[in-house]
Amino acid sequence: MISHGESWKHDFIVSSFQADQIRYHHYFMINLVKSTYINVRHRLIDLFLSSTKKAVYHQVLLRHNTYYRGLSPEGKRNFIIRTHLFIGTTRFRSQEGLSVPLVMKIILSAAFVQVTFGLNEDVLEYFNRIVIFSGPYSYKNTSKRFKGDVNPRTRTINLSWPSVARGFEDAEDGINLAIHEFAHCLILENSRRSYLNRILNASDLRAWKLQAVVLLRQIRNGQAPFFRAYGGTNLMELFAVSLELFFEKPEAFARENPEFYQCMTMLLKQDPRFTPYPPLP
Ligand SMILES: [Zn+2]
Repeated sequence: MISHGESWKHDFIVSSFQADQIRYHHYFMINLVKSTYINVRHRLIDLFLSSTKKAVYHQVLLRHNTYYRGLSPEGKRNFIIRTHLFIGTTRFRSQEGLSVPLVMKIILSAAFVQVTFGLNEDVLEYFNRIVIFSGPYSYKNTSKRFKGDVNPRTRTINLSWPSVARGFEDAEDGINLAIHEFAHCLILENSRRSYLNRILNASDLRAWKLQAVVLLRQIRNGQAPFFRAYGGTNLMELFAVSLELFFEKPEAFARENPEFYQCMTMLLKQDPRFTPYPPLP
């Protein structure tokens, strides 16, 4: 016999199970629609993007992006299309006296494409303005100098170019400013979008947070030296620092903390160790 209290509990368990199922069903359907839409869009861009332009993208990416270099021909084609799309939907601005040539735009956009290569997401809707500075900069009325930051108020990503370039010169040191700032964008934009249009799967993000909270404590106690101390600032910084390591030291990361690495692959739907095609099937 079920008492009134137990019955309520039972109903709650059933309804929360059903809610999870409904949410999963919604997520599955939305992703199906999104991936169909993205595939059509990519095919159209592939059709209309000139071979000369594709060759320019290819040469720049081959020279500056290690992730791209490791991709299959099919992966490279998809990467070029995504890079072109991101450049076309982003407003690039610069500090007075500094120009933003196509090479710079490609190098920078490639960081976003790399981070989202496994996701059904190829543009940012909220943070679609990037401002490039010739060196560390500061905001009015403060003396603090920044190499990069994401400003939700102005919906802008600010970056010091020398630091961005350094991030790609050494692709295995676990430090990459552009990947770091795009990681912040992903989380901020994800939380600002409607439930049905989120970038990251809610249950994958929850699973990531559960492990991240433990890791955060370990970093602060000096028990996880693989992650640089700055990652111990808060969960937001830990996500950004983890993403840098995920892409620049995937093998070492997976050896160091297999469970957390697995969470990252589920969240981003890719495993950078799987060259020539990192996206999960
Ligand atoms: Zn940060």
